[in-house]
Amino acid sequence: MRLLMLARNASLYSHRRLVEAAEARGHEIDVLDTLRIYMNITSLRPEARHNGRSLEGYDAVIPRIGASITSYGTAVVRQFEMMGVWSVNESVAIGRSRDKLRSLQLLSRAGIGLPVTAFAHETRMTDDVLDIVGGEPVVIKLLEGTQGVGVVLAETRRSAKSVIEAFRGAKVDILVQEFIKEAGGSDIRMIVVGGKVIAAMKRQGGDGDFRSNLHRGGSASKVRITPEERSTAIRAAKVMGLNVAGVDILRSNHGPVVMEVNSSPGLEGIEETTGFDVADAIIEFVEKNATPGKTKTKGK
Ligand code: ADP
Ligand code: GLU
Repeated sequence: MRLLMLARNASLYSHRRLVEAAEARGHEIDVLDTLRIYMNITSLRPEARHNGRSLEGYDAVIPRIGASITSYGTAVVRQFEMMGVWSVNESVAIGRSRDKLRSLQLLSRAGIGLPVTAFAHETRMTDDVLDIVGGEPVVIKLLEGTQGVGVVLAETRRSAKSVIEAFRGAKVDILVQEFIKEAGGSDIRMIVVGGKVIAAMKRQGGDGDFRSNLHRGGSASKVRITPEERSTAIRAAKVMGLNVAGVDILRSNHGPVVMEVNSSPGLEGIEETTGFDVADAIIEFVEKNATPGKTKTKGK
């Protein structure tokens, strides 16, 4: 097959591994900088271009859209979808996974375990907002945060209120969550490909940090997941409409709760920790599921 990976930086570990895996399976793969692709939006003849050349003849697109370019990146993926090119993850699914609030709302409708979460625009009813998540300690989050930046633990009502007021002062809406203390600063990342969990790891926050992000000095280890954790991850990816997803959960005393569903999960930590060839599994999934020329984005 002829594959196109959309990625800003071809030399990142995950991107190099996907290229290696594609070539090892006998495919041709190009990697283009998402932001350098431009589009001709013409009635019935949508076109994507790069360096003066029309991007034609690809059987599938592998989007690796970074959070900072979600809007332009999903427009590029959508353009390929309009041209009938199959994408591993659809543009609409990538877009919804980038919106934490929308994701939580969709997951909650589907009955998937979540930390009790409240969301508010203004601060008049802060006491009630804090009460509905069960009171302090609470976690307060910036909706647009990534890699644990903008995730704050407030242990007392006073500190919770001052963080909320600071967020409000900065003109951002307020997401407040029950603190899952029993997770002990660790979470579990599962990689779902085509409705199966193919790899899982446990991440532990660095020194006293309740956030388990590897970018923040956390460490990863192998983990055995329970059947309930497995089915939670599979259902979460399905609700989000993602064929490839990294699903993060916490082990709470009311079962697994989903933190986040990531549409471009990094491969380095998970491959190193588990020894599993995640890149190969993704390319194999592309091979079995790409339907060249037949793609219609469902947009729902
Ligand atoms: P980001 O998207 O910036 O990584 P997350 O919402 O995933 O932000 O939070 C980062 C980390 O903080 C999580 O991986 C988890 O370890 C910890 N964390 C987040 N929310 C909670 C919570 N409600 N209870 C306990 N720990 C949490
Ligand atoms: N098309 C879906 C709906 O309208 C969108 C769901 C979403 O991703 O927010 O319900």
